[in-house]
Amino acid sequence: MSEHIPVIAPRGAPDEADVLRDRTNILIVDDRADKRVVFSTVLEELGQNIITAASGEEALRWLLDNDCAVILLDVNMPGMDGLETAELIRSRRKSAHTPIIFITAFADEMHTARGYSLGAVDYILSPVVPNVLRSKVKAFVQLHRLNAELARRADERVALVKEQMARSAAEDSQRRATFLMEATQVMGSSLDVDTILDGVTRLVVPYLADYCLILLAGEGGGVRARKMTSVPIWDRHLGAGRAAFETALAQLQELIISSGQRLSREGLTGAGELHGLPLVTRGESCGVLVLGLGPSNRRMAGAELGLAESLAGRAASALDNCLLYEEIQNADRRKNEFLATLSHELRNPLAPLRSALHMMRGGQMKPERAAPLLELMERQVGQIVHLVEDLLDVSRITRGAIELRREPLDVATEIRHALEACQGAVDACGHTMVLQLPQEPLYVMADRSRLAQILENLVLNASKYTDPGGRIEVSAESDLQGVAIRVRDNGIGIAREKLARVWDLFVQVDESPERVRNGLGIGLALVRDLVRRHGGTVEAESEGLGLGSIFTVRLPRAAGLNVAPEEKVPAANPGVPARRVLIVDDNVDAAETLAMMLELLGQETRQAHDGTSALRMVAEYQPDLVFMDIGLPGLSGLEVASRIRRDLGMSDTYLIALSGYGTEEDRRKSHYAGFDSHLVKPLDPSKLPAILGAAERRTFAD
Ligand code: ADP
Repeated sequence: MSEHIPVIAPRGAPDEADVLRDRTNILIVDDRADKRVVFSTVLEELGQNIITAASGEEALRWLLDNDCAVILLDVNMPGMDGLETAELIRSRRKSAHTPIIFITAFADEMHTARGYSLGAVDYILSPVVPNVLRSKVKAFVQLHRLNAELARRADERVALVKEQMARSAAEDSQRRATFLMEATQVMGSSLDVDTILDGVTRLVVPYLADYCLILLAGEGGGVRARKMTSVPIWDRHLGAGRAAFETALAQLQELIISSGQRLSREGLTGAGELHGLPLVTRGESCGVLVLGLGPSNRRMAGAELGLAESLAGRAASALDNCLLYEEIQNADRRKNEFLATLSHELRNPLAPLRSALHMMRGGQMKPERAAPLLELMERQVGQIVHLVEDLLDVSRITRGAIELRREPLDVATEIRHALEACQGAVDACGHTMVLQLPQEPLYVMADRSRLAQILENLVLNASKYTDPGGRIEVSAESDLQGVAIRVRDNGIGIAREKLARVWDLFVQVDESPERVRNGLGIGLALVRDLVRRHGGTVEAESEGLGLGSIFTVRLPRAAGLNVAPEEKVPAANPGVPARRVLIVDDNVDAAETLAMMLELLGQETRQAHDGTSALRMVAEYQPDLVFMDIGLPGLSGLEVASRIRRDLGMSDTYLIALSGYGTEEDRRKSHYAGFDSHLVKPLDPSKLPAILGAAERRTFAD
């Protein structure tokens, strides 16, 4: 097209670059070359680029790649006429709004509806009046320039905004990264809850918000710790709306902690926005972080909220670490206290035992003087046994190794047995014991020895924590939830705030310096565990210090069960015939004392102190009864038992296993090895006649 459409440079252009940049295009479309020259000459003065086209097609082709301020279009052209050309120009998006001035010899042509509907903005009668043509075209050129200028400025503004946005986004992300880095430093700097809370509030205000509250929840819905900070004008900002703000804040805290969800509130009286985020660790919400905006007229959304969430996450982990550390420290402190108490408790009974032994060593003591000493020794040994058993139970609980052997038991009968066992201790303190038991039997499915342990612990505690001459009431009744067993005393009581802690292992609530009441802080932990294993609950109540305590155990009733009659413990049989008894134990003292006790019961005894000699002696001595320690050096007790049965073919000898372990698994192992009975050490001497009786019935029955 360039050969047809010369670009005519304006006369007197001041600066070529300026001119070229500022010039706009004017397109002249006419089939007659003379007219194209005339129009070009007339318009040259406007200082624009004049482009000429000799036909509609040619003009349309040029318009594909270019635009112009105005098109002068001859209406009468051969081939595609001006009207047709205008129609096509308008139909293109690029040139849809380019002004068109028709050039026509007949004004009527332009007054037809078609002329205007095709987008003509004006028309000029031919022959043209140069000034008219020039001024009309000039108006469109100026309009075009103006539009171009506006578009350019708009583009510049968009570019500027984009650049500013990109810069501030980069700065923001840099700021956020720095903020989180600072947060990490603060969180990692301490294992103290208050320091962390303080650090979080200082990070938040004023960088993220005008107000910040962080709260760590405590036990039972309480508050463990809280910290609040705000910008100085916050109080003035709240003004009279403070009460409403505090109410909304409290509601928000509660909702967030219970739901574990982020929540926001807007338009609170004078407070702008409030955003509450849960502090979640290990799947549980342990507190809340609240950010408030108001006086700074800022809003929080998108990235800022994300930042607040990251902070809440970091704060939650840091606080969790603090709490875990605290727990470890407490456990360590309790363990140290426990070890100190344990050594004290173990030493307590040893001193009187040693003195009593010393006094008896001479052998010239009269029986009436020896009797009380023996009683004393028995009591002290009983205390040590009790301590050791409790300790073993604690270890069993922590290993999950406690097994229950449940059977239907009448609660009243078990309570009576337990009280008999505690009678000595209760009497020693001069307490009055009051029993309220139901007439009809109340059955529970329980492990007899464990139920006894529960009851004895509660009664002994009642006795221990009541000053001499007190009153202890033990009752049982059936209620909606099952059977309720209550032990009430009028003793020293428990402070309300410490009630929940009595169940913790090694915790002794009585922290008085004299600490006259001995104990290891194990009993109630055992009680609670055992009651739970029975499907029950236990609770402690006290009106406060000096006002006594009530411990209530609730166990599910065994009602509806076809309750089997109780298996009676075989009664001691003083008339057991003399039998040959072999005692196998590597602890010579233990073997010796058992032998002495059996001889007192009229039995003939021999001893062996390891597995091999035990086997030999069984073959020689042919005992009727063998008490065998399981943990023997060399051949174990289990091995010896199975050889007695298998190799020596002695099926009638009654074999009793003595073991420190009494789980179902241990009993099963003894049974498979060939033992008839499995007893847990230490052996209670008062049970020996019954054991001999049972052996007698089994072995020598017809
Ligand atoms: P121990 O008696 O060996 O210290 P427990 O676990 O049996 O341990 O009891 C824990 C704590 O609970 C006791 O140290 C004592 O402070 C308190 N306690 C238990 N029973 C009573 C009671 N009947 N009256 C007052 N305090 C009690």
